Amino acid sequence: MSVASALFFESAADIFRRVHREIKPRTPVPPVSVEYKAFANADSHVRLQHGHIQVRLTDLLAVAPAPVTEALAHILLGKLYRLAASAQHEQRYKLYLNRKDIRQAIDDIRRTRGRKHHLPPKGEVHDLERIFDEVNEAHFGGMMARPDLGWSHIRSRTRLGHFDPSHGMIIISRIFDDPRAPRLALEYVMFHEMLHLHYPVSHSGTRRCVHSREFKLHEKQFPGFEDAKKLLRKMW
Ligand SMILES: [Zn+2]
Repeated sequence: MSVASALFFESAADIFRRVHREIKPRTPVPPVSVEYKAFANADSHVRLQHGHIQVRLTDLLAVAPAPVTEALAHILLGKLYRLAASAQHEQRYKLYLNRKDIRQAIDDIRRTRGRKHHLPPKGEVHDLERIFDEVNEAHFGGMMARPDLGWSHIRSRTRLGHFDPSHGMIIISRIFDDPRAPRLALEYVMFHEMLHLHYPVSHSGTRRCVHSREFKLHEKQFPGFEDAKKLLRKMW
């Protein structure tokens, strides 16, 4: 932060204009508007339209310290002009988003603003609650509390399942709600997502570890591990 900005209050738009002068010293600063929006995630957007820079930031950042807004200005204006932001700015912004209270706030808005994008657990062919109970019995001694379960709307072949920590929910691709889909493959995908419940994602600094070593070792204990993987490859 420059000395001047420490002496008087700078609005977010002021910060963007200052950063613009820093990274494009020979370009006159175009009109800049910054709006805070109630997005369902932590995304921020920038665009140049009719010679006007429009910045839309998640309202989570409305109370961010000025150096964080400044770091984001470097990142967003860098994107606009295809100039890489410095590692220092990337790092400062990421650390802020990764702060415990901010992560909590992001989870909260995802849960309350994010629309529900799933179908009930009882599908046309399979009932996810029954699959969950069976896998729970067979692999976790029946000890795992059943989270909300649902089928995805989209028959995704790339996202077979996911655990959504903000809704505490396992969502399985509807591609498995089909008599031709091998049950072992579905059980394996359920097992994988249940492991996500068992091994919560750990955060350290800016690193986010989803499939830890313990997770992977445990996953290999699934009796049909190799067969299930083969079946999944064969399905498409
Ligand atoms: Zn996973």
